[in-house]
Amino acid sequence: MRLSVVVVGGGITGLAAAHRVTELARERAIDVDVKVVEARDRLGGTIATERVDGFVVEAGPDSFLSEKPWALALCRRLGVESKLLRTDDRFRKIFVWYRGRLHPLPDGFQLLAPTRLLPFATSSLFSWPGKLRMGLDVLLPRGGGDDESLGAFVRRRLGREALERVAQPLVAGIYTADPDELSLAATMPRFLETERRDRSLILGLRRALRTAPQPGTSGARWSLFVTLADGMEGLVRALAERLPDSSVVLRQRVTSIERPAGRWRLATADGARFEADRIIIAAESHAAARVLRYVDPTVATLLGEIEYAGAATVSLGYQRADVPHPLDGFGFVVPRTEGKSILAATFSSVKYPGRAPEGYVLLRCFVGGALDARVLTEDDAQLLGRARTELREALGITAEPVLSRIARWPASMPQYRVGHLARVETLERRAAALPGVHLAGGAYRGVGIADCVRSGEAAAEAALTT
Ligand SMILES: Cc1cc2nc3c(=O)[nH]c(=O)nc-3n(C[C@H](O)[C@H](O)[C@H](O)COP(=O)(O)OP(=O)(O)OC[C@H]3O[C@@H](n4cnc5c(N)ncnc54)[C@H](O)[C@@H]3O)c2cc1C
Repeated sequence: MRLSVVVVGGGITGLAAAHRVTELARERAIDVDVKVVEARDRLGGTIATERVDGFVVEAGPDSFLSEKPWALALCRRLGVESKLLRTDDRFRKIFVWYRGRLHPLPDGFQLLAPTRLLPFATSSLFSWPGKLRMGLDVLLPRGGGDDESLGAFVRRRLGREALERVAQPLVAGIYTADPDELSLAATMPRFLETERRDRSLILGLRRALRTAPQPGTSGARWSLFVTLADGMEGLVRALAERLPDSSVVLRQRVTSIERPAGRWRLATADGARFEADRIIIAAESHAAARVLRYVDPTVATLLGEIEYAGAATVSLGYQRADVPHPLDGFGFVVPRTEGKSILAATFSSVKYPGRAPEGYVLLRCFVGGALDARVLTEDDAQLLGRARTELREALGITAEPVLSRIARWPASMPQYRVGHLARVETLERRAAALPGVHLAGGAYRGVGIADCVRSGEAAAEAALTT
């Protein structure tokens, strides 16, 4: 008997799920019909690359983490490893825009805490009282409760300056979140474990660095973030090419599912119907909540409680000669206390080769997020104006850009608030009672592309096992 699997949502999660279904079907000689039903007129969800006039412009994500192995492993299986690009680590530096100028984040800073004394002690980013307060971490006892916000954790261990000048802006560049709402356990468990194990964050991170595997001990070394030569959409295309013919259905928004007689039936806004033995819901959790509202209102409520924030990217191409700053880094982040719209700016053509034609540069500003929702309501001219004003202040650019692109992503970034993991556990327990329905995506156990690949593939395994 042919097993019918319908995947709702054709972002990276849904595509990774559908691809894994086809891999497993082949390996296990199971006759499977897989369909990806996507609401938009294109695959990829928040992944979208535009190639224009020699620029490679990423509207959404520009890279994925290699230290979480799932996306990298998928690229290998898809045969696109040769297209992967490392960051240009000569320019690995990140700047923090503080009090009107860019300060390099001291070498050895591990997201929240310093691990190298000299660069930290000589840094212009922190005051002496701030540095001493951070250093106090080596003496402080363990603390914290069950689930603590990232803001509370950093304030407790390293002080307010570390939170305001480093942790908050770095975290905003990843989660677009308010650190006082963000669950540490759900987002950065490594730091929680370091405190539990080593008491001091600084000493624990230093110890972990000393004992980390040395380069060359485990095959090809990738930089922390990698991308594809033809842009992130290259991954979407490679996945879509591996799916069986006519397995992708575009422009069909699934509105509800029901189970009239032992099989699931999905209905779309346009009146299409799909029958399925298994359903993988790989849409955003707010969309999953709507799809499941009649089948299990409790699951739908839990899904609806996961909040999302919106963000936008403003990409600007310039002639290199028009940018006075040396652009000797990957970009800069902006603390909220500075009152700017830009959360983070990436020097895209410095970070990766081939992002701009010879003699030009590509810069990308990330704006909006949980702490600045109003930005998304502004029109293109306003958004562009803000980005250009702030780039002038930060980098001294007054020239007209040769290229500008704006991409808005409303309700696209899940916010892992304090209590998130407990909510997800309840949700997973409850959803397990829906026979043959599997949830996957960035809303649950990791927001990045690598996590989404893992989540989609795990849903595929579960769908073909149960
Ligand atoms: C601006 C931005 C920058 C980012 N940068 C990075 C980065 O550099 N690195 C990184 O790892 N991650 C980054 N992320 C996060 C990353 O993009 C996401 O984690 C990942 O792409 C999410 O994939 P997904 O498939 O789970 O969800 P999505 O990409 O949101 O896809 C969900 C899909 O489901 C479809 N859908 C929704 N409802 C329905 C329905 N009812 N019926 C049918 N289809 C439906 C949607 O149209 C969409 O295509 C970034 C995100 C944004 C917004």
